[in-house]
Amino acid sequence: MIPGIILMLLGLVIHSQLHDLTFIQQQLLGYLPPLLGGLAIILCISFNQGRLLLTTVNLLCLFLLIQNQLQSSLSQPANFVLFSCLSLLFPLLQLFINFIPERGLSSRWLIRHLPVIVSGYLFFWVAAQNHLLSDWFDGLPMGLIQMYSDPYLLSQWAVSLFAVTTLLGLIILWFRATLADACLVIITVTIAAMLALFSKSSISVLCSTLGLVLILFTVLFNSYSMAFIDELTGLPGRRALENTLRSAGRHYTLGMVDIDHFKKFNDTYGHDVGDQVLKMVASQMKQAARGATVFRYGGEEFTIVFKGMDEVRAIEIAEKVRTTIAAYPMRIRDKNRPENEKQGRQLRQRSGRSEDTAEVTISIGLCEKTRAHKDSQAVIKQADEALYLAKRQGRNRSVACHIAQPRTRRAATS
Ligand code: GH3
Ligand code: MG
Ligand code: MG
Repeated sequence: MIPGIILMLLGLVIHSQLHDLTFIQQQLLGYLPPLLGGLAIILCISFNQGRLLLTTVNLLCLFLLIQNQLQSSLSQPANFVLFSCLSLLFPLLQLFINFIPERGLSSRWLIRHLPVIVSGYLFFWVAAQNHLLSDWFDGLPMGLIQMYSDPYLLSQWAVSLFAVTTLLGLIILWFRATLADACLVIITVTIAAMLALFSKSSISVLCSTLGLVLILFTVLFNSYSMAFIDELTGLPGRRALENTLRSAGRHYTLGMVDIDHFKKFNDTYGHDVGDQVLKMVASQMKQAARGATVFRYGGEEFTIVFKGMDEVRAIEIAEKVRTTIAAYPMRIRDKNRPENEKQGRQLRQRSGRSEDTAEVTISIGLCEKTRAHKDSQAVIKQADEALYLAKRQGRNRSVACHIAQPRTRRAATS
């Protein structure tokens, strides 16, 4: 959320500069939200970001209605009615978007959700076109007429609805922890601020622009994550490794890491526990391999890139990674107890640990890039050969292919 909050605070600085703009420049600024909104819609559809698409439409519809119908004083009954209704409609629709699960974007999904957003605004636009709004003024409840706090222009009801939407957004963010959820919360708060400060000039253009910029960033970061970050472990994946190796220069050491007897682990405790082991190994490796970058190569294999390091320095870090993982007490939860009790007992006896913990070990093969390597693939291939040697020598060890006598390291664990 922090970059988003900084972006919104930047809005305060930008707003103080807007008075210096000429009339033409201010007019041109008004085209920014539709332009950014169009771009955001194209990107959301291209990258399958349904909830961000609905938020873009919500924001864009609000902006367009304000630009077309609310450019004169709010003391006019029709304007006041429209403003009051929009200050309820926007948070209500955000609340609706908050609850939609992110299931990718299909035309059926769009047909089910998009009309909810558009029809709300369409209703008020048609009412405004037919001069019906001023007739509703007398029927407005006190909660919409009384402002929450002078001189801010948010009614008591609007403040309550914005507060509920923000709170629910934060709770959902806590549990789902996605970038899109963080983006939704910030946009809700930004629009609440925009409506509260509605009398300030250019406020709707500024807040809508910032909101749409935030959506664009979120879509781009999300698609970056999807392409480069492995979902299970949170580590950068194979594509990111290729990118890193392309820019790693000539001086680096590469380590291929493989979990020992992982198949047996899967067979004994089940696939879910296998996934837990992968997550544990990934997070421990990331913490222990300071100064190097860890990638998930695929399956139960990982790669460590030691930029600017030779094999001697790299094997020190590799050994730290290996011993950290071997010393980590991997807890196996009751519900995942092995179906095959005998195998489970054997595995636990071999590790010499209590019933609830199991030993996980890794083997590492290291190779420093030299002139003899044609490209990074050749380095990976040789690191793989060193890994194969580590496996043959008994596993739970690191072998570097240019260090003449591979050091024999027994497990530094109990
Ligand atoms: P070695 O010590 O020789 O490396 O033996 P191993 O059993 O670790 O090696 P092997 O290549 O025979 O088995 C790897 C297993 O990893 C096979 C596959 O089912 C499992 N695996 C690959 N990806 C995943 C995953 O994402 N989750 C889980 N749970 N298992 C996976
Ligand atoms: Mg393997
Ligand atoms: Mg393995």
